[in-house]
Amino acid sequence: MAFSASYVCFDGCEGETYSLDEVVYRCSNGGLLDVEHDLDALRTRSGAAWRALFDERAGARTWPDRSGVWGKREWVLPEIADEHILSLGEGNSHLLPTPRYARDLGLKHLWIKQCGHSHTGSFKDLGMTVLVSQVNRMRALGVPIVAVGCASTGDTSAAVSAYCALADIPSVVFLPADKISVAQLVQPIANGATVLSLDTDFDGCMRLIQEVVAAYPIYLANSMNSLRLEGQKTVAIEIAQQLGWEAPEWVVVPGGNLGNVYALGKGFAMMKALGVIDRLPRLVVAQASHANPLYQAYVGGWERYAPVTAKKTLASAIQIGDPVSIHRAIRALREHDGVVEEADEQELMDACAHADRFGLFTCPHTGVALAALKKLVARQVIGPDDRVVVVSTAHGLKFTDSKVAYHSGTLDGITSRFANPPVSLPAEVGQVVDVLRRTFEI
Ligand SMILES: *Cc1c(COP(=O)(O)O)cnc(C)c1O
Ligand SMILES: [Zn+2]
Repeated sequence: MAFSASYVCFDGCEGETYSLDEVVYRCSNGGLLDVEHDLDALRTRSGAAWRALFDERAGARTWPDRSGVWGKREWVLPEIADEHILSLGEGNSHLLPTPRYARDLGLKHLWIKQCGHSHTGSFKDLGMTVLVSQVNRMRALGVPIVAVGCASTGDTSAAVSAYCALADIPSVVFLPADKISVAQLVQPIANGATVLSLDTDFDGCMRLIQEVVAAYPIYLANSMNSLRLEGQKTVAIEIAQQLGWEAPEWVVVPGGNLGNVYALGKGFAMMKALGVIDRLPRLVVAQASHANPLYQAYVGGWERYAPVTAKKTLASAIQIGDPVSIHRAIRALREHDGVVEEADEQELMDACAHADRFGLFTCPHTGVALAALKKLVARQVIGPDDRVVVVSTAHGLKFTDSKVAYHSGTLDGITSRFANPPVSLPAEVGQVVDVLRRTFEI
């Protein structure tokens, strides 16, 4: 049986179905779209058969099966041909057990899903391989797309520009000036994207790019575009696969524009619907207190959502006041008995530095997730025997500016409880030995 997928309206408007080969981001009533798979066709294979196929491919040596995303291609983009797939070896990231850190937090089972260990250093690669591959196919079919564009808090632009450079497709990125890290800025520059550094914040960049793509043949790569979520969905499948085809009790993820939590929820729900797992995990979204519109809606019992003006946060990739996927996130949280927690600047930087002492090297967004986890364990929402997976969204090396400032004690308003600054000494053996004797009590 042939597998297939199409766009439908997320809000369920009748008759709003589009081919994935069309350039369309919203339904005619303005709602977001969702990629819907033909589940009856997918059900012609049993849950056990899907598990066996995915396991076989995860160990494959052949391209593109060994990609964590394309190894699940029937569930992602079932109709794309091999020749149009653009892969930078994304996915199949490590599910890292952290027994010593877990014990310190009062847990028995904690894993970090290392989605930042990826070509451009963030989970954005998982979605962008799908989006840029589909653009590649559409261009081959004669759809007039001149370039791929996005507004970004840094990581999306890095992924767009890398996959576009691989494909020889022009890219343009809209970045808020002075609000992203140096490592993030240099990535699109190096990959040859047209980089527009704009005197506004992320929400301002987002408004501008939407006006531009409405008038010009530039394809929008923001997560409003539901193709990316199909790739990000594979994180859920990998987590279950790496736990021996079981869902943990909890999955914790930092949230900004909130596409990722919806993608995770969709992945788990699809596995349950197709008999690949037999129960769903509960989901936790962790937000920075400086950009917490989802948290506020949650505290209000989902009665009311209001955008906020995001304040500066060191978790810069989630400094978003008006998340495009807010209603997607709320749906995923309702379906997964979800919880939302927040962390302030002190808590998120301390959580990063504390986790690093156990051998991790966490980005500030993962710090938000870890700080939230700590609070939920303290409040006994998460029990000591529960199995918990924290999704680490980026590599810490993209965020050395804030980590160095933390350890130097130069972050405004933050007490660096876990600071470990270097000791500066003259090159003189007596003084070196003095320090070592004091440090190690020898
Ligand atoms: C994009 C991003 C997030 C937020 O993901 P959303 O889907 O926007 O909620 C979190 N952390 C990092 C490092 C990111 O790049
Ligand atoms: Zn609609």
